[in-house]
This record gives sequence, structure tokens and C-alpha cells, in this order.
Amino acid sequence: MNLTIAIIGRPNVGKSTLFNRLVGRRLALVDDSPGVTRDRREGQGRLGDLDFTIVDTAGLEEAAPQSLAGRMLSQTKAAIGDADAIFFVFDSRTGLLPADKVFADVVRKSGKPVVLIANKSEGKAGEAGAMEAYSLGLGDPVLLSAEHGEGLGDLYDALRNVC
Ligand code: GDP
Ligand code: MG
Repeated sequence: MNLTIAIIGRPNVGKSTLFNRLVGRRLALVDDSPGVTRDRREGQGRLGDLDFTIVDTAGLEEAAPQSLAGRMLSQTKAAIGDADAIFFVFDSRTGLLPADKVFADVVRKSGKPVVLIANKSEGKAGEAGAMEAYSLGLGDPVLLSAEHGEGLGDLYDALRNVC
């Protein structure tokens, strides 16, 4: 499958952790501090028998206007534009924050196929946050733990459904 998938979401939801999980190597910097601008990174991702190009994004731009929408990284929008499908990631432990909704709006308006990912859902953590995400209008959330590698089978099924 010659597909390009962009991982989109606000900082600190686990995008780079998911990127590394799918690439199978630690190519992207995983960091606790949100808002650190990093380069867009591409790698060859694999999920079961699916091969694709996967793109990690930073989320927000540091030196930019103050409004949340204004702080959207231009590279994030470019990544959405270049992608065939989007992995939209949110943190099911914190639940939805205003920034998640800004990012979700951009993704929805792009009209690209999207898989909604409730990350940090290891064990039973985050079930409530995951249910809240139905309000985004991006379909059923896939409960995932990028860090622990849980839910990858469901992610595979969801990807097959949108592509
Ligand atoms: P990014 O800013 O969206 O790229 O997020 P990172 O991948 O840098 O991760 C931010 C923080 O969330 C780091 O401390 C990760 O270790 C943590 N994290 C990522 N995925 C998971 C997960 O599945 N479960 C938990 N509990 N923590 C995670
Ligand atoms: Mg990152």
C-alpha cells in the first residue's frame, strides 16, 4: 500500500510515541514538555501486513501569534494536505481540551479519511475520555496505548476501514 499517513494532534498526546511504535525505531523525540517545536519527521510504518509512509508532526509553533488557531503549525496543515489519511490522536486520560477541538476542526474540514485514536488507554484508563471523543464527529475512537503497544489490532482494522 503506497499510502501516506500523517499523525495529527496537540502536543503531548503521544504522537511521536505512536510514530516510533509504527516505524519500529526511535526516530522521533518523545518528550514530556508540551509545545516544543520539532521538525516534521517521515518514516516507513508497518501495521500487520500494511506498509505506509508515516509523518510525525510537532503540533504548535512557538514563535507565532497568540491565538490557538494562529499557533497552528503551518507544517501540520501541510502534512494534512500531503496525507492520504490522518491518525488524529488525543489523550484519553486528560479528555478533550480546547486545543484538541481546534485540531479536530482542521482535520474534519480537510475531508481526508481519519482514524480517531484515544491514546494512553492502557488497561481501562481513559474509557470516559474516549467516549467523550464521539463529540468530535470523527467516528469511533480506537482505544490505543502507543507506549505499551495495546490496541494495535483495532488500529489496523480502523485503517483498513478508512482506506
Ligand atoms: P507528542 O508531543 O504528541 O509527540 O507526545 P510524545 O510522544 O512526546 O509523548 C508525550 C508523553 O506521553 C511522554 O511522556 C510519553 O511517554 C507519554 N505517552 C505516550 N504514549 C503513551 C501511552 O500510550 N500511555 C501513557 N501512559 N503515556 C504515553
Ligand atoms: Mg512529538
